Formats: sequence, structure tokens, C-alpha cells
Amino acid sequence: MSNINTSNLHVEKAKTSKLADVNFEDLAFGKTFTDHMFMCDFVNGEWQQPQIKPYQPMQMEPSARVFHYGQAVFEGMKAYKDDHDDVFLFRPEENFKRINKSCARLAMPEFPENYFFEGLTTLLNLDRDWIKPGVGNSLYLRPFAIATDPAIAAAPGESYRFMIICAPAKAYYKGTVKVLIAEEFSRSANGGVGFAKAAGNYAAQFYPTSLAQQKGYQQVIWTDADTHTYLEEAGTMNVFFRINDTLITAPISDRILDGVTRKSLIQLAKDNGIACEVRQIKVSEIVEASKNGSLKEIFGAGTAAVISPIEGFEYQNTYRELPEINDHSYSSVLKQKMLEIQHNLAEDLHNWRHEVEVAK
Ligand SMILES: *Cc1c(COP(=O)(O)O)cnc(C)c1O
Repeated sequence: MSNINTSNLHVEKAKTSKLADVNFEDLAFGKTFTDHMFMCDFVNGEWQQPQIKPYQPMQMEPSARVFHYGQAVFEGMKAYKDDHDDVFLFRPEENFKRINKSCARLAMPEFPENYFFEGLTTLLNLDRDWIKPGVGNSLYLRPFAIATDPAIAAAPGESYRFMIICAPAKAYYKGTVKVLIAEEFSRSANGGVGFAKAAGNYAAQFYPTSLAQQKGYQQVIWTDADTHTYLEEAGTMNVFFRINDTLITAPISDRILDGVTRKSLIQLAKDNGIACEVRQIKVSEIVEASKNGSLKEIFGAGTAAVISPIEGFEYQNTYRELPEINDHSYSSVLKQKMLEIQHNLAEDLHNWRHEVEVAK
């Protein structure tokens, strides 16, 4: 093992790379990881020296608090490569701010900004060859933090671990999806943790989603917990509705996650002369719009798929189909624009791209 010390970060390089064994044509999302991982422990009230190590299993006490109380938060972001081998992140400071918001809500210590960015850029340089050029290819980055205290008292812990692991990715969702509008289950509630990327939010979605899948739907559109009459999110994505030529998406709240894709799409719609309203939207409004033919599109928005068009939805035992999407659909147009910005193929009006400089 060779050791390189930067200002603070300790790097232990992998002896051999697994890259040659990976079939990039046939990648299952999130199952293959690059050669290195980043980690940093919080003990005695302080973040310790950050480290990069070969990707490997780790040991933990069975009593570690994360296993019992789900004190864990995460992020999802991507690195992209253009045809000149330059590597870019998309609005990474948004992910940094958001994981610290999630940490604060889960009573976990915030992670220092310089550690986050030094760790991320060093990791991306070490695993640079894992990022393939071409629109649709990316390296999915998963920062996360967990409570590691070996103590099963139901109280916030004193020791934590912050990590980043990386998985090469192709387009996540394939084709369109059918969704079931939630009439019973909820994803989040007022005063809860819906706005945070808290691990437990996702565990709680698996069961209602599996019920929807048994009925032939891939995802659930979540409605407000009180009345189940307002549309909030689609699976683990924000959701947009197009009625006539206007896009509508719900305002963020403590129930709705402040998605980077969502806010970028709102801006891109504006830049491209597409009307976009941020307001609450009732299920009855889209049912009505579907009946009278003014409902043109519904799509999910998130880092993994950028935009995931929805083919139809079920509500109160009635399935309603949406018009077929084409190259002029807002979902196609906006997705293309986002991908071009992410892959350095279009002008970046809002400074969203962040180039990862090659390490000297
Ligand atoms: C991560 C996530 C999103 C999308 O956020 P992006 O920053 O666009 O990836 C939307 N909703 C939920 C519930 C999420 O967890």
C-alpha cells in the first residue's frame, strides 16, 4: 500500500483495481462499487482525520446505535465525464448543505465543508477511470453518516461515521412507470423528517411500494398525511404535473424533500419559456384534468433518473392513462437540457457545473 498525505486527508490506495472485471454494459444500479471509499469518524466531540481506503467491509459493534434506532442520513449525487476526460459534479454544494440539514434533524453532528469537498475530489481523482464519458453514464456518489456508539440507549449518540462510496451507473429507470396514488399510507408528516434524507424514510416506503407493485405499479405517489388529497412526491422523487402547457409542482415543506433536480428544473423551465407554478395540487385537480384531456404529463424528478415519465396512475380503483410522450414532451426536452448541462455539452448559465480538477 502506498500512502499519500495531503493537508489532512490520509489516503491508502488499493493495491489492485477491480475496474477490469466490471461489465459497464450490464450494470445493476448500486451493486458495483469503485476501488476506494472515504471515511471519517466523530469521537470525543470532534471529527477525526479523514481517510480514503480501499473499498471494503467494516466491523461494527452489534449494539451500534444505527442498527437499533436508524440514526442515519444520506445523499445521492453524481459525477459526469465529458469527451475530453474532464469530470464534473452538478451543484454539489446543495448536497453538502442538505446532508448537514438532515444531520441536524437527526441530532447528528454536521460535517465540515472542507473535509467533504477534499474527500470527494480526491476520491473522484483516484477512481477517475470508473467514470465513463457519454450522456447517460455517470458515477453515483453516496455520502452517508451513521451513529456508531456501542450503546443501545434510545438517545442521540456520541460517535458517528461519515462515509462516501461510489457506484458506476447507467440510466436508472427504464421507460415509463405506472403509479398508484396513496390513499392510506404516508411517506411523511408535519413536524416529521420527510424533508431530510433520513434512512428510515425509505425503509418505511418499501412495504406500501411492494403492495403497489403487487397491483402492477412501480411506484407510489405520496399524498399529504392528513387528508390524502394533495399530491406531494413520487416514490423517492419530486413530482411535476403538466396541465395544458403549465408545469405544476408542490412547494417544499417539512414533508417534501428539497430536490436539486426539482429546483434546477423549475429554473430550466423558466429559462426555456415554460410556465411553472409552485403550488399545492389536489388529486381531484389532476383527475379532472385527466378526464377533460388537459393533463398532458406527470413525471418524477431526482438525481438517479433526472426525469422519470409516468405512463398512468391509479386513484380510487380507476386507472387513468396519460398521453404517450414524444420528443416535444416537457419531460424529454427538460431531461435533455439537464443532461447536456451535466455532461458539459451546453452552456451553464447558472454555474451549476463544478469541475473536479485533476490532482497534481
Ligand atoms: C433524494 C430525493 C429526491 C430528489 O432529490 P435530488 O436532489 O433531485 O436527487 C426527492 N424526493 C425524495 C424523497 C428524495 O429522497
